[in-house]
Amino acid sequence: MTITVIAKPMRKKCFLLLVLSTFQILIAQELEPFPLSQEWLAKIDSLAPKKSAIAVSEKRKVLVFSLHTGYEHWTIPHTEAVISLLGGKSGAFEISTTNDISSFYPESLKQFDAIVLNNNCSKPDNRNIFWDALSEVDFLSAEKRLEKARKLELHLLDFVENGGGLMVLHGGITMQNKSKAFGQMVGGSFDYHPKQQTIEVQLVDKMHPLVSAFEGEGFQHIDEPYFFNNAYFETNFRPLLYMKADQLMGKRESVQENIRYISWIKKYGDGRVFYAAPSHNAHSFENPKLLQFLLDGLQYVSGDLICDDSAIEN
Ligand SMILES: [Zn+2]
Repeated sequence: MTITVIAKPMRKKCFLLLVLSTFQILIAQELEPFPLSQEWLAKIDSLAPKKSAIAVSEKRKVLVFSLHTGYEHWTIPHTEAVISLLGGKSGAFEISTTNDISSFYPESLKQFDAIVLNNNCSKPDNRNIFWDALSEVDFLSAEKRLEKARKLELHLLDFVENGGGLMVLHGGITMQNKSKAFGQMVGGSFDYHPKQQTIEVQLVDKMHPLVSAFEGEGFQHIDEPYFFNNAYFETNFRPLLYMKADQLMGKRESVQENIRYISWIKKYGDGRVFYAAPSHNAHSFENPKLLQFLLDGLQYVSGDLICDDSAIEN
């Protein structure tokens, strides 16, 4: 056995290196974005469930809406591709994709069983993606634009209220962030997020069918810890996943409750809503359990996976 005695100046250097590398671990939580590639999709394909939890006699039609007018999530194409892959591989869904707000007219919406809102961050001033997109049409007066934007939002609310499904992923919740009606439909408005960090995601009820993908265990990943406000505090939903606020860095003092929900389901009229904050990063989709969870979520919003979606007690 050889004992190495480190000379004093060397020891100092080692200590400094240790401090620096610890500091690096603490700050280097932002994952490196990567472009969507065939190789990555092949990897996701190998991890995705072969079949859906509930067998369907007829494929459900789903529209993935991926327009953003504000903050651009690098993971938008990845998320769109993951949903398309999950639907295709399982054989349970026929997935269409769009960036066009005219998809929110009733004639278009009625072709689908469910809509997926994929990271549709709108501009911070109005937080209304319809208003933003209509601003590109310069012949519309401000009054007309507002009226049209209101109607398009109402069409989406009506679609869900009349039995349609709505899956909202990560930044999709900010799409109409100043609309009380939209916030009540999706279960809250986006408040803010501290910087990306490792989040210990926990299951609210291990026995709930919609978290069966996780086999009773939470998971860990690097993500933006999303905090919500407005309708969130009515907890008019059945929560599925949570994080603990006291484990997070950089949160505001206003955070009182330690348990903060980051995924839930809820009824809205005759329709169903599924929200999942995971994830800001495409790396998270490399967890096969998360892929199963999203496929199960799609089956829930489409009306095939029947489970307890009653609101929990406050
Ligand atoms: Zn994000």
